[in-house]
Amino acid sequence: MDKKTHSFQAEVKQILHLVTHSLYSNKEIFLRELVSNASDACDKLRFEALDNGALYEDAPNLEVRVFFDAERKTLTVRDNGIGMSADEAIAHLGTIAKSGTREFMAKLEGDQKKDANLIGQFGVGFYSGFIVADRITVESRRAGLSPDEGVRWSSDGTGDFEVEPLHRPDRGTDVILHLRDGEEDFLRTWKLKSIIGKYSDHISLPILMKKEEWDSEKKEQVVKDEWETVNKAAALWTRSKSDVTDSEYQEFYKQISYDSQAPLAYTHNRVEGRSEYTQLLYVPAKAPFDLWNRDKRGGVKLYVKRVFIMDDAEALMPVYLRFVKGVIDSADLPLNVSRELLQESRDVKAIREGSTKRVLAMLEDVAENEKDKYAEFWKEFGAVLKEGIGEDHANQERLAKLMRFASTQADDGVSFTDYVGRMKEGQDAIYYITADTLATAKNSPQLEIFRKKGLEVLLLTDRVDEWMLSHLFEFDGKPLQSVAKGAFDLGKLQDEEEKKQAEVAAEAFKPVLEKLKEALKERAKDVRVTTRLVDSPACIVVDEGDMSSHLTRMLKQSGQSAPVSKPILEVNPDHALVKRLDADSRFDDLAQILFDQALLAEGGQLEDPAAYVQRVNRLLVA
Ligand code: ADP
Repeated sequence: MDKKTHSFQAEVKQILHLVTHSLYSNKEIFLRELVSNASDACDKLRFEALDNGALYEDAPNLEVRVFFDAERKTLTVRDNGIGMSADEAIAHLGTIAKSGTREFMAKLEGDQKKDANLIGQFGVGFYSGFIVADRITVESRRAGLSPDEGVRWSSDGTGDFEVEPLHRPDRGTDVILHLRDGEEDFLRTWKLKSIIGKYSDHISLPILMKKEEWDSEKKEQVVKDEWETVNKAAALWTRSKSDVTDSEYQEFYKQISYDSQAPLAYTHNRVEGRSEYTQLLYVPAKAPFDLWNRDKRGGVKLYVKRVFIMDDAEALMPVYLRFVKGVIDSADLPLNVSRELLQESRDVKAIREGSTKRVLAMLEDVAENEKDKYAEFWKEFGAVLKEGIGEDHANQERLAKLMRFASTQADDGVSFTDYVGRMKEGQDAIYYITADTLATAKNSPQLEIFRKKGLEVLLLTDRVDEWMLSHLFEFDGKPLQSVAKGAFDLGKLQDEEEKKQAEVAAEAFKPVLEKLKEALKERAKDVRVTTRLVDSPACIVVDEGDMSSHLTRMLKQSGQSAPVSKPILEVNPDHALVKRLDADSRFDDLAQILFDQALLAEGGQLEDPAAYVQRVNRLLVA
């Protein structure tokens, strides 16, 4: 094989451009990224060597070395990990294989700020070397291949890269940065040591640098030909809690999450007993761009006895906690555990249950003690947490307490507990309404009587709310009751006098009601008199067992078939428009308009808008 020139994938070119231009203010992170890749490469070797010990060749001690050549202005990060074959170098260092690339690029394109945060979230890793280097050369040989199957990859980070064969006896990878003019700072031992201390102390492999000593004759620091370990080299989660500072926890989070913002909260515990494991779990402050992808694997890394096993082990967390990041290190699982085995393992089940409880406890703590922070969390992840109501019955009650809603009393932050605390004497249900938007919910005619009586109603406008409500029927022994479903009955909240008046009005209205039923028989399952309205002439409700109109609409919008059941029209016999119906010669037009308007008021769409417009116009010109 000769030297060959390849072109970067289009996305890589874009990323390279973004990285070198947007991350410049925090350029030292390139070292963190390269050391992290080196450490990953060692983890991968250790993992593959579980089945094939020969891969260690004669170098079983995995390590990372960082060294420089001040004259040639190169800085090298060397590891004796898994290495890359020529094909792998071309594939991994020329393209971005990660799923979600397209969404990510689309998001960046719309984002004028070119948010460094987002870029970090995606994990630009290797390419960050180009922040400080105008050429990067990678020399590598994959474990298990012969010394003649090494590869040299080289690029100036613009459009192309070159690949050629290389004789390389040592397994592993050298990433050689040819530093740009002005980046000589990275040719100083103290500087490099301080960056490694800041970002890479928790890396569990030793990171070695050459010793430096003061030469009293030359009167300067000289680099000796002797290596020393410059990091703590103990995986952070294996250290005792009291030994780890808050900033170390934060730094570790950034490393594993690609998130440049500090996490919202974290929890670190060693669990002993039937199943033994250590968990270090974080809740991010901001939702990732692909939060809504339910197929996305979780953010928890699995280790077994400090050996890295896999990223994104989804079996360790329920789907609704897919935003949690962190590490779980088990003392019980076999080292050769696969994803399939994980799904079935009883130990994993115990770990998942334990970790779920920990995360919920962490959220409860924030909700209790840091209300503003919890509001932030809820804005980012609330809708995902709601999925848990249906998915995790064992923790349903705890989850319900963590829910926050809008209500007729506050635009956000209302918990079931708040609601129950404000319930009126004689009120025995928790009232709610679902709608597409907060405005539709707030202006819904069904709320009128509740307003008049000072009863609070929860306003639910998230897409998952309907689904959640199909799994949650009560809170604290109080049933959840839709104000747009079933016959209206406020029970003890209505006094005898009101009830009697309503009965009289209904009786008097009977003949008109029959005519309305006849006029609307194609569209309404029933027409009845109601006391739930105060200012509006009519509203749409559905039967107790039927699907809400809001859910029916959502299903239709998403192209699914929804059962067709006609709604019920309820009319307010005290309303002026309803009162004059009977005497009016345009009864039929008025009846249809009444129905259409009730539909519009609850956010529905008319099947025949043109007919509606014609009817209204006929009235206007009359
Ligand atoms: P990420 O590490 O997030 O996958 P990078 O751009 O940093 O993204 O690296 C891309 C890929 O290149 C890695 O996934 C890995 O396969 C390969 N790679 C990078 N550095 C090394 C290394 N030191 N040894 C072996 N493979 C590496």
